[in-house]
Amino acid sequence: MSGPAVVFREIHRLRRFAHELQEQIDRQPRQQKAQQAKVARQEEIYRQAQDTVKHLKVEIHGKEGTLKSTHGQIAKYERQLNEAGAKKEYDALQHEISDAKTKCQRLEEEIFAGMTEIEEKTARLPELDQAVKQAKEDYAKFESGMTERLAGFRAQLAETQAQLQAQEAELPVKLRGQYERFVAAQGHDALATVHGQTCAACYTEITAQQYNELQQELFVLCKSCGRILYLPA
Ligand SMILES: [Zn+2]
Repeated sequence: MSGPAVVFREIHRLRRFAHELQEQIDRQPRQQKAQQAKVARQEEIYRQAQDTVKHLKVEIHGKEGTLKSTHGQIAKYERQLNEAGAKKEYDALQHEISDAKTKCQRLEEEIFAGMTEIEEKTARLPELDQAVKQAKEDYAKFESGMTERLAGFRAQLAETQAQLQAQEAELPVKLRGQYERFVAAQGHDALATVHGQTCAACYTEITAQQYNELQQELFVLCKSCGRILYLPA
């Protein structure tokens, strides 16, 4: 029968591997949610861009209406100007016409700026639509592989756990109670190898007596971090 160092080494390796596999398994649904969120986010960006274009169009349409009616107003003032008798009336109409012309100019500028913005935003729409399609494609790809990945991880985990049980059965009976208490509390992180004369987990130096005990294959705990220590191969 092999000594505890060999067994602990193997147990530690298997526990770490099982832990990694479990993390991979747990990560799948989180990644799935993240992919779903990405699709929703891209759809929202696309929808907002479409809405902006729609609103701009409505706004411009309104301004074009105002522009047309203001031109009509100017024509009316100009007709009245020809018929104006008093200078006061004439001046007032000139003033109205000047104001209306300023308003038309401002509207024309705003309409032009709005149309430029529509053009720019419309040009970006296919790109945003493509981003939605890409996100959906990524999600579909992820999801179709997920079932297979999970099955693979679970099979590996089951195999690793079986190997772990076999190794644990190799532990000397007198060490088993302590070992079980420690792994119940700390899981895969309950063990640490010794590098030179130092605990590989917390870098605390072990005593000469601890080192001797390890060589005698006794149950030794790191005095600093409390992990089960074992000598490397
Ligand atoms: Zn330690």
